[in-house]
Amino acid sequence: MQYKKLEEKIKFCRKCHLRDTCTQVVPGEGNFNAEIMFIGEGPGENEDRQGRPFVGAAGKFLEEMLSLIGKKREDVFIGNVLKCRPPGNRDPMPEEVAACWPWMMDQIEMIRPKLIVLLGRHAMERFLPNQKISKIHGQAMRREIPEIGRQVFYVLYHPAAALYQGSLREILKADFKKIPKVIEAIEKGKKGDLGDEGNEVEKEEKNRFEEEDKQEALF
Ligand code: SF4
Repeated sequence: MQYKKLEEKIKFCRKCHLRDTCTQVVPGEGNFNAEIMFIGEGPGENEDRQGRPFVGAAGKFLEEMLSLIGKKREDVFIGNVLKCRPPGNRDPMPEEVAACWPWMMDQIEMIRPKLIVLLGRHAMERFLPNQKISKIHGQAMRREIPEIGRQVFYVLYHPAAALYQGSLREILKADFKKIPKVIEAIEKGKKGDLGDEGNEVEKEEKNRFEEEDKQEALF
């Protein structure tokens, strides 16, 4: 199936009640062959109105950070775990997340990114449960996800959180600037698992993460 066909299916989805209250479905946008996918939790008010992910102040900040690594919005894919805005930005119900999850899996399966960057604690929890963002931000983690197989994730603070809490702003920028190195290490790793840097850290961290649902910190 071509990505556009998948997008059409998502736009017409009515699998949960969130579609009754949102303005429109926000499937995500960007390069369907992207190396990097950025994933947040769900659309907010601006996204719901415009039908695009990460617009408004947080989106501007994300674009600013992309420019730090020589990229534009159209070079990457940007989306959310949840495609419809929960009313009043309330937390989504487990059944809503469960209903929407297969779309996320289909998108990842089709785009096959080298790296998935999780924006914020909520998105992190969907893919890397039982972790603390204060501990693993700026670290690459690899996890086996039943629907998509082994995938490397990289966790960042949410751009909106960094806008509200000035102290997170520089941390987020510093973590963001490490993304090209992470991609480089993933590419090296294809030849010899994780490459020297990754292997070293993997060895050190292996035991620590073994018990945590096979989530491995890479570097
Ligand atoms: S939130 Fe997801 S599952 Fe629910 S209606 Fe929207 S696209 Fe469908």
